[in-house]
Amino acid sequence: MANTYTLILAPNPSLMTGPGTNTLILGGGEEGALVIDPADDNPAHQEAIIREGEARGGIRRILITHGHPDHLGGAEKLRAHLGVPIYAFSREGTPIVDQEVHDGTLFPLAGDTLRALHTPGHRFDHLCFLLEGERILFAGDLISGITTNVIIPPEGDMLAYLHSLKRLQGIDIAKIVPGHGPEVLDAQDKLTEYVVHRLHREQQVIDALSTLPSGITIPALVEHIYVDVDRRLYSVAAWTVEAHLLKLEREGYVRRNEQNGWEPVKK
Ligand SMILES: [Zn+2]
Repeated sequence: MANTYTLILAPNPSLMTGPGTNTLILGGGEEGALVIDPADDNPAHQEAIIREGEARGGIRRILITHGHPDHLGGAEKLRAHLGVPIYAFSREGTPIVDQEVHDGTLFPLAGDTLRALHTPGHRFDHLCFLLEGERILFAGDLISGITTNVIIPPEGDMLAYLHSLKRLQGIDIAKIVPGHGPEVLDAQDKLTEYVVHRLHREQQVIDALSTLPSGITIPALVEHIYVDVDRRLYSVAAWTVEAHLLKLEREGYVRRNEQNGWEPVKK
């Protein structure tokens, strides 16, 4: 009996991908196998995917968590070799898709079912896949096994991201397999940690806006909030602060002036 899933680390390590992307092979038997995020077209990596697929009765589907190159890379090459369709949320997110996947789409697997969950935030087209019987969540870039992942506007949407995290808090999950980094065994603790961390940063932004002079800019907010952080990380911090401001703006708590400064909305 094969393992529930096989993790093959793609050879694409970088600052953003950590050790590389986790490519996952699941299933087997009558329903055949599927691969989540081929990630890279490196020949040795492609061959490892195909070999593991063959050991499981052959890959019938290629699933993509979201249309970032470190996840969808290698998918076209694999499709050309195997002649099987690519599944992703939308053509807008993944132009090479063959079959669009909706929230709740089910994929039958030997003795279990894989359910697609539309979980925007990191990107609008982001999907997680939940193996329902085993309660394993393949989380793509929603959760990182390495560090908290960065929400980069305009693609990243903090409001949607927090909604997605809170939705996952309502699901019984035994284990999270992220797109990068090691598996997370304390799934709900990790989700809580993510939500608390984001809300803490949001509160810092609100506090800074209410104490600092009106019309403060993002770089000035970063200097104020990230006092204990290496300045080389300030550009990353600026994305986070901007993502929080855009969320608060949509919720009606803050507004922007003509000089691109920010101020609280008096309620
Ligand atoms: Zn990504």
